[in-house]
Amino acid sequence: MSDCIFCKIAHGEIPSTFVYEDDMVCAFSDLHPQAKHHILIIPKQHIASVDKEPTPELSYALFHAAHEIYAKSGEHDGYRLVTNVGKNAGQTVFHLHVHMLFGENLTSLFGA
Ligand code: 5GP
Ligand code: ZN
Repeated sequence: MSDCIFCKIAHGEIPSTFVYEDDMVCAFSDLHPQAKHHILIIPKQHIASVDKEPTPELSYALFHAAHEIYAKSGEHDGYRLVTNVGKNAGQTVFHLHVHMLFGENLTSLFGA
């Protein structure tokens, strides 16, 4: 069994509410939201970061999830996607995740 917290979430070993799910990715609210809406979009299969070169299919699935989440959200003023690679960028969970922030003005917030 993996020690990776996001693998556990993706595989249902830690109960979570998914705001989006398909064959390749799932998405759920960040534990410590940095905006009105702060969603984490993750691959179901473990990959440490975007620098490990997700397949074209997975890369598409991550962006497509953001599109679907936004479309269903009722928000209309845009969103920000951030993915951290490595400790200098502030990556603390080494399972690829895309932060999706929206629902308020983010101009003063760079990153997540
Ligand atoms: P990073 O700093 O690696 O880019 O972002 C990791 C994010 O994961 C942080 O924003 C943190 O709040 C979130 N996080 C860490 N552990 C958990 C967890 O168990 N559940 C959820 N929903 N979010 C988590
Ligand atoms: Zn993992």
